[in-house]
Amino acid sequence: MSDHIRLYIPGPIEVSPSSFEAMSTPMIGHRGKEFQELYGGMQERLQTLFETKQPVFLSTSSAWGIMEGSLRNLVAKKVLCCGNGAFSDKWVDVAQRCGKQAEGLMFEWGQPVDPEAVREKLNSGEFDAVTLVHNETSTGVTSPLAEIAAVVREFEDVMLIVDTVSSFSAVPTPVDALGIDVMLTGSQKALALPPGLALFTVSDAAFARAETLNDRGYYFDFLEFKKNQEKNMTPSTPCIHTINGLSAKLDDIFNEGLGNRYARHERLNGLVADWVTNNGFEFFAPEGFRSKSLTCIKNNREIDVPRFSQLIRKNHSIAINGGYGKIKGLTFRVSNMGNETDETMGEVLAAMDDSLAKL
Ligand SMILES: *Cc1c(COP(=O)(O)O)cnc(C)c1O
Repeated sequence: MSDHIRLYIPGPIEVSPSSFEAMSTPMIGHRGKEFQELYGGMQERLQTLFETKQPVFLSTSSAWGIMEGSLRNLVAKKVLCCGNGAFSDKWVDVAQRCGKQAEGLMFEWGQPVDPEAVREKLNSGEFDAVTLVHNETSTGVTSPLAEIAAVVREFEDVMLIVDTVSSFSAVPTPVDALGIDVMLTGSQKALALPPGLALFTVSDAAFARAETLNDRGYYFDFLEFKKNQEKNMTPSTPCIHTINGLSAKLDDIFNEGLGNRYARHERLNGLVADWVTNNGFEFFAPEGFRSKSLTCIKNNREIDVPRFSQLIRKNHSIAINGGYGKIKGLTFRVSNMGNETDETMGEVLAAMDDSLAKL
């Protein structure tokens, strides 16, 4: 048994040998032609993936950097933070730490964000930005992005900031069609790259808003990103190795075909769903709002989740997640993001079968 524990946790996930190989090319300067060609050469495919005509920016930070950046660049009055799990709940705190007025619109963990409730709040006229986590990784709940985006678009001056960290490239997230002002994601979830790189888009309305704000800071100033991107550069020295990995990953994605990629995630997610029902477990998310990139399983059978995870790790060198924060032990999570195949998902499910029998 090798000491490589294969990760089926909802990020970071397995990085393929070919990605590691792409990242081990010699270093290049970030102000030279080679970097400009690397970044410029990816732009069109990135725009296709984001379904946008806007430039796609690369930030050397984890996703939270851009989450914080969005607040600094876009919130002048007050931000409404939709919360239904660990990642979305945290936005209010982050906004307040950035000196912004913020209010949470909180839903029970496991429930999706309700578009109607968003409309009611925005009707007050108090808010000029909304934050939404598309796919709540802590609970395996996907909120109805298109419906919520349509509601926010009814309010002309309200910016929509969407975190697609654990859904991007696993399901379609069409930025322009939905009118998303800032959409952000990270490298270590469905893109199956090492952590450290965030990708994001900014609408023209959001750039215009940013121009009116004086406390954008420097590192996450969207106008700096825009100015530099025009020369196929980034504001500061980027993580060039991960960007090389991203370039190779885009080759993989477009060789597979976007439609095939989305269909594969759906199919693999279905394999996990079958395991759940066949073994008498339930889903933490309601029907119709279940994530396609991971499954959060309700521990209605009251098994010993830490021991279950440990058996899987010890006997099969596989890591699943034993539940996040306040639902640790009450749930467990299995990811089907990234490069997984029918065969590799079969392996984690077989390991779960074997370990369940040994409890
Ligand atoms: C993982 C995750 C984050 C945090 O991303 P970092 O890269 O750790 O900053 C934020 N939102 C969601 C939905 C996530 O799954």
